[in-house]
Amino acid sequence: MDEKLMHRRLRRTAVIIVLISLLLILLEGIAMISLQKNLNETIKQRITGEAEEYQGMIMDQIYANLQSLNTLASFIRRGDLDDQEYFARRIDEANKSNDFISMMFIGCDGLNILSTLGQPIQVGFNRDKVGEEVSQLIDRNMNGEMGVSQMYLSKVVDATVFVYGVPVYDEDGNMLGSLLASDNIDVFFDMLNGSNVLNGAGVLHLVNQDGQFLIRSPQMIVQKEINSIFDGPYWSGEDEKQKARTALQNQQSFFSSFQYDGDTYQFLLEPVGVNGWYLFCLNTPQSLSGDIYSMVRIMQIVFFIVLLMFVLLMIYGYRSLRRHNRELRRLAYHDQLTGSDNMVRFKQKLQARLERSEGLSVIAFNIRRFKFINELFGKEQADLLLQYIATVFAQHVREGEFFCRDAADSFYVCLSDTDNGRVLEWIQSFMDEIGYTTERYNSNYRVVLYCGVEVCQDGSCLDEQMLTHALFALENAKGTHSDNIVFYDSQLQEKQQLENRIESRMHAALKNGEFRMFLQPKVHLEDGKLSGAEALVRWVSDSGQTFYPDQFIPLFERNGFCIQLDIYMVELACRQIRSWIDHGIQPVPISVNQSRTLFFTLDYLEKLTGLLSRYQVDAGMITLEVLEGIALENVDQLNLRIEQLHQLGFRVSMDDFGSGYSSLNTLARLNIDELKLDRAFLMEISGGSGERTRLIMEQIIQMVQHLGISTVVEGVETEENDRMIRDMGCDFGQGYYYSRPIPADEFSKRFMQQ
Ligand code: C2E
Ligand code: CA
Ligand code: CA
Repeated sequence: MDEKLMHRRLRRTAVIIVLISLLLILLEGIAMISLQKNLNETIKQRITGEAEEYQGMIMDQIYANLQSLNTLASFIRRGDLDDQEYFARRIDEANKSNDFISMMFIGCDGLNILSTLGQPIQVGFNRDKVGEEVSQLIDRNMNGEMGVSQMYLSKVVDATVFVYGVPVYDEDGNMLGSLLASDNIDVFFDMLNGSNVLNGAGVLHLVNQDGQFLIRSPQMIVQKEINSIFDGPYWSGEDEKQKARTALQNQQSFFSSFQYDGDTYQFLLEPVGVNGWYLFCLNTPQSLSGDIYSMVRIMQIVFFIVLLMFVLLMIYGYRSLRRHNRELRRLAYHDQLTGSDNMVRFKQKLQARLERSEGLSVIAFNIRRFKFINELFGKEQADLLLQYIATVFAQHVREGEFFCRDAADSFYVCLSDTDNGRVLEWIQSFMDEIGYTTERYNSNYRVVLYCGVEVCQDGSCLDEQMLTHALFALENAKGTHSDNIVFYDSQLQEKQQLENRIESRMHAALKNGEFRMFLQPKVHLEDGKLSGAEALVRWVSDSGQTFYPDQFIPLFERNGFCIQLDIYMVELACRQIRSWIDHGIQPVPISVNQSRTLFFTLDYLEKLTGLLSRYQVDAGMITLEVLEGIALENVDQLNLRIEQLHQLGFRVSMDDFGSGYSSLNTLARLNIDELKLDRAFLMEISGGSGERTRLIMEQIIQMVQHLGISTVVEGVETEENDRMIRDMGCDFGQGYYYSRPIPADEFSKRFMQQ
């Protein structure tokens, strides 16, 4: 997966998680707020209900006291006032038999009597001596109204009291005066202080219109010495205080809540209806609302836990997704063996640099004869070598440069340098280090690398194209023996263009018969007679241009077209033999080159037998030449194939022996019929290192003959070559000395007698 896409997905997942979490938090918030609102409403209703009940109780008490005072008043006759002593005693007795602190009679005609518990009765005192609060009440009584006075501090009883007062009429309904009784506010104390206030979870105080405590329950929540509710911590601010004051002045209820000691409390100020008194009713949240409260709390906790778990789960999911992605990226972008980048990553990095229009060089590396290293030193050693090369790459690349291993022994490096000279220097120092170290530690085997370089000066190249060019240059480096390092240039470009042309036309060319069979004779050295011919392909295009195998065979081997071409060449060989036979000419066997890929295709044998029967040609007339390199891969597999071919009657020859690394041991295990010694042997002998090579050649020929395999020496160019190989005891010779490869017709004319 593309890295950007992966990041985008990760980011999207993270955003979704955050959004869902926020949404859940919001939902929880809304749910909690509405629950809290409901809870507050419920609490308010319950407090109000409770407060009203107590208010009723207070009013009942006051009403009951007023009633009993009224009853007393109704017994008073005008005549009673005449005997002042007697009347005073009656008042005193009445006082004692009630729960009042004091009783007072204020007559219209100036008879004033005051009975105070534990004090002598006062008769005829001046009415002006009574306080303002009582005086107002007396006036109301005189007007025929009964009522209760404001609270005041009584000097007589030395306590804060209030007074009930009723009008007194004579039998004829004329006003006689006012009968008053004082009472301590404490009469309400027990009532308010009952432990069952708000189911035992509430506190009731009595306050006056100014917010001053009249009765402060000892079970107070706020344990502070305060006189007024406005001095306490019941308010969220001045604003609220002001609202409460206004409500008190207007005798309205006021509901609110406050925080104290980490808890939230609700309170209600409920007017009692007398004297501006207020019930100040508070609840302890935990128990007032009981079930509902705990339900809400449980819900809050459950919701919070669920949310927490969800968020944790999401975070866990997100993290494991990230880990998973990282692992995927590691797998997707790294080479398992060396730990370096792989091709996918390399291309991404290359693309990024080219997008920034940065000049750079791309170098493709291969190890020379890597398969051989694998076979000779074992897979483990070969793996170690690859790892070692990756380490050296890592040491040699500079900031911003990078490399990768693609497959097998294929490495790519991207350098920031674009100067051919400096790039070459870099490659050489790198190669020297690899060669030097491997030679020291690997049984004196010096690992040789070859590489192809593509330089892009201004960054205006395409990544794919750069890689193709580097590879193309690498292929060329492989092809030449002299140079390990090849820069892609105009010449190579032309070559590539040619390949492109060839590739686009090869199928049509095959159909049009543009591939021609040239034959080169194989000569029996003992008597110089023709013993056979090798079929070599030439491509004569319809424009008359001739292409040689070197120009297209490597390409066809890469793109697989060789499979078709080689079979076609077998067909041409069969056709030629048929033609000779049909013309009454004694045919000679023809050798046909077979590429590795064709040799192991599944229907190879059927294709061959198909051609034999079609042209009625004996399989013994066809020799199949395979390259030496094929033996390096799997001897058993190769032998199996050779065995199958033998059963059909074909002969199998090993081509170019000595050009690669096949050992004589390997050779000894192969069931081939013929061995063709590479022309490099003769080249070397005439080149200088003559004697040694000659000896080797001789040894090979002798050994191979012992194995019953016939020998052919290729590249015989001179009479001297011819004599030498004859002396060595070689069976056959092939080379320009006898003839160059020539068109089949010409060959027939020159070498085949009727
Ligand atoms: P090869 O099979 O080793 O063929 C021998 C090559 O050496 C031929 O080159 C031939 O022209 C050349 N040669 C022969 N005698 C001499 C000599 O005395 N001196 C020198 N310097 N060269 C000599 P050619 O025809 O260009 O073929 C090159 C290679 O292409 C062949 O090497 C063979 O590997 C491949 N090839 C040719 N035709 C086919 C084909 O039909 N199918 C396949 N798969 N490969 C083919
Ligand atoms: Ca050959
Ligand atoms: Ca050859």
